[in-house]
Amino acid sequence: MSHPSKNQNAKGPAPEGANFLKALIEKDLASNKHGGKVITRFPPEPNGYLHIGHAKSICLNFGLAQEYGGRCHLRFDDTNPEAEDVEYVESIKADVRWLGFDWKEHLYFASDYFEQIYQWAEDLIREGKAYVCSLNEEQLREYRGDFNTPGKDSPYRNRSVEENLDLFRRMRAGEFDEGAHVLRAKIDMKSPNMNMRDPLLYRIRKAHHHKTGDQWVIYPMYDYVHPLSDAIEHITHSICTLEFQDHRPFYDWCIENCKVPAQPRQYEFARLNMTYLVMSKRKLLQLVKEKLVSGWDDPRMPTISGIRRRGYTPQSLKNFAKRIGVAKAESLIDIEILEACVKEDLDQVAHRAMAVLKPLKVFITNWDETQVQVIESQVHPKKPEMGVRKFPMTREIYIESTDFKEQEDPDFFRFKPGGEVRLRNAYVIRCEKVVKNSSGEVTELHCVYLPETFAGKPPEGGRKVKGIIHWVSANDCVEAEVRLYGRLFSVPDPENVPEGKDFKVNLNPDSLMVVKNAKLEKTLKTASLENRYQFERLGYFCLDSKDSKPGSLVFNMVVEL
Ligand code: ATP
Ligand code: MG
Repeated sequence: MSHPSKNQNAKGPAPEGANFLKALIEKDLASNKHGGKVITRFPPEPNGYLHIGHAKSICLNFGLAQEYGGRCHLRFDDTNPEAEDVEYVESIKADVRWLGFDWKEHLYFASDYFEQIYQWAEDLIREGKAYVCSLNEEQLREYRGDFNTPGKDSPYRNRSVEENLDLFRRMRAGEFDEGAHVLRAKIDMKSPNMNMRDPLLYRIRKAHHHKTGDQWVIYPMYDYVHPLSDAIEHITHSICTLEFQDHRPFYDWCIENCKVPAQPRQYEFARLNMTYLVMSKRKLLQLVKEKLVSGWDDPRMPTISGIRRRGYTPQSLKNFAKRIGVAKAESLIDIEILEACVKEDLDQVAHRAMAVLKPLKVFITNWDETQVQVIESQVHPKKPEMGVRKFPMTREIYIESTDFKEQEDPDFFRFKPGGEVRLRNAYVIRCEKVVKNSSGEVTELHCVYLPETFAGKPPEGGRKVKGIIHWVSANDCVEAEVRLYGRLFSVPDPENVPEGKDFKVNLNPDSLMVVKNAKLEKTLKTASLENRYQFERLGYFCLDSKDSKPGSLVFNMVVEL
């Protein structure tokens, strides 16, 4: 099998909505190939949590079914009992639902078909198309040959039908140890396609299965199960990723040689690869097991559960899937395209609020100690229907310490000694005095406010002030923990490492920064998990679904502005 090479130069997306599969389906519909039906499936193996690549496949399979009035099945390809678990089954269901798709009554497990699939194997034996082979693992490999060397026929290839049936039934009955025998299709050991060199159909595995328990001690191979499951479910378009292209002849062989009730066809598309991410369950599992992240749902993970907790919306993922399109050629998608989709969606829905992450106290000397002014501002600047928020302005406020600079800097338009700046939604203030501690750090600013400059009152007191900064009342605000995220990996292609090195050397040590006592606008006290918030001038944030509690709020940064 040739391995698809990544095209490192193709960073851009396909033209919006590009999808060669649609053309294919429309042709089939026009010729009434499958009786005018479109039935697709999403077939995860329950051996890990789903990632953004799977999200693309989910959007594609469920999306096509929706678009052509068909249906999409959720089928678990559970043929490897050792690696699989119900925990994964449940997480996968939750992820598909969260994306907004519904398989209705069409939830299936390949293991539901094990008996039928076994019977078809016996049929193959009876027709002389399958045989029990007793070579050991090493011999199997050796007999198989390689790209340059044709394979050799197994010495067991010409066993009689009776002997094969007897051995296969005894394999099922548990009479043999693991590795003693396998069942193979009898095709062609000289085929240039390695997948056609008498591929394995069954192997002995004395393992407990999360669904069938200890009922089976032989398990069918994925490549044999997949086409048959598709046929049992009357799938019309079996869509998979490019690495299965070379498996297609065997897919078709199974459909032709087993007495299946339908004729599904396999089509391949390029899997999603993205910069700054690894997209392999095996590697993601490593990060979890070695505790390099807090779990599968760590907000830095490219898993669906991770990005859900991070605060990405299902809509932004669907928009992303649509924007990058579906292509036949491998490409590498820039992570900024995904981030742009998230920002575009959040800009529409996020509630605005002010939050100060690195607080610097400002004392307004001409503001009366008891004076409280309620400031009103729109929840969303372009959507008055989302309402108005109210929060207090008081004598002491916090501003972002990075918005103040003592040193002269002609390019810095925020706040400086003697300078003026506008407090967003409120007044212009002027810095009169800088208070420092014994180590020379600025601890407080003493300022005056200019009463005639209140925001929105044209012409805003007639003052032209370049800088506008965010702030919160120091006397009446909410404290919270805010988690800021950088990329999980610090290089665009984390899997590209020198011989002998591991992709984990590319983990970004600064991917998580925790701000313990951020000061938030009072309205955020009642923030809800369902909403997203734009902390003005900073980025988009949401409550952390696991760690945030009323009275001790924890926010995740979804994405920077
Ligand atoms: P991984 O390679 O990440 O371990 P997998 O392919 O083994 O994933 P499966 O559970 O077999 O995971 O995948 C279920 C479906 O999702 C398959 O149809 C597969 O082709 C598709 N899929 C997996 N990874 C991607 C990806 N990066 N882009 C698009 N589709 C993908
Ligand atoms: Mg797979």
